[in-house]
Amino acid sequence: NFMRVIVDATAPGLADRHRGSDLLCVVRALLKKIRRRVLVGDRVLVGAVDWADRRGMIEDVFERRSEVADPPVANVDRLLVLFSLDQPRPEPATLTRFLVEAESSGIPFVLVLNKVELVDEETVAYWRERLNSWGYDPLLLSVEKQSGFTALEEMLEGQTTVVVGPSGVGKSSLINALRGNQNISDEDPIHKLVEQNSKWFGEQRVGTVSKKSGKGKHTTRHVSLLPIAGGGFLADTPGFNQPSLMKVTQKSLAETFPEIRKMLKENEPSKCLFNDCVHLGERGCVVKGDWERYPYYLQMLDEIKIREEIQ
Ligand code: GDP
Ligand code: ZN
Repeated sequence: NFMRVIVDATAPGLADRHRGSDLLCVVRALLKKIRRRVLVGDRVLVGAVDWADRRGMIEDVFERRSEVADPPVANVDRLLVLFSLDQPRPEPATLTRFLVEAESSGIPFVLVLNKVELVDEETVAYWRERLNSWGYDPLLLSVEKQSGFTALEEMLEGQTTVVVGPSGVGKSSLINALRGNQNISDEDPIHKLVEQNSKWFGEQRVGTVSKKSGKGKHTTRHVSLLPIAGGGFLADTPGFNQPSLMKVTQKSLAETFPEIRKMLKENEPSKCLFNDCVHLGERGCVVKGDWERYPYYLQMLDEIKIREEIQ
């Protein structure tokens, strides 16, 4: 497998023409032997560079700031949680699961509502207020009408972003819209190498994303990072569309709800009486149950409890 590596524009001791250029690289056998996987988005050390042929070898992988499992991308700066206002409408329970999953990832995220042109102003205001009460401030978008892109592109500038959300909300459409005119020219020498290499990793034209097989087992996912306006990158493959909540524990679930965070903060310096309070109405709990998403919190707590007991 080959990986396309973009040469760091700030790397010392390089001729200017090499900065920001790309190299087609193989991964050093030793890295494979010690099971050091190189992910798309990794910062790597490249050796044995042949500048004329634009080839090199990945010799080491630097420490990651973050990591997303689906799609496998390292150093992700932001998740873009995409829902649509209609076709399909936001489903509060599903939306909550996505928000909890995003919160628990530790990666900053932005909530974006697409297909805004399909609904009237009242509906927009309704969702805005409802989500504000949950602690979120959604960005409104219409991929079809090309509206809302300025604010979004500003936000994504200089960042590596992965789009997540349920199916049908417009993830692929959004990625294609942001892809802009990033098509690789046929004259590009790297592109020629791509054409010669059927195993090219991450090139959208060759490595397509195969849908889950009937049994939902073999999912081959090729992912590449598309350069976007402002110097950032966007994963060309949408991320999870079914939050697993695997990173969430009974104890950490509360931290993924802005409503609970707010209640705990407002009560400072007093806290729940018990250190391991999960806010189920225990004695001395400062978290009340009079907020919209409390039932979802309870449901998820149950689900996580069952999972933890089986494990
Ligand atoms: P994905 O499953 O999340 O990747 O969604 P797709 O990108 O495949 O889009 C699902 C459907 O929604 C397609 O028919 C798109 O054309 C449509 N769609 C995407 N964005 C918009 C939008 O802003 N407005 C409307 N009306 N339809 C949209
Ligand atoms: Zn409590």
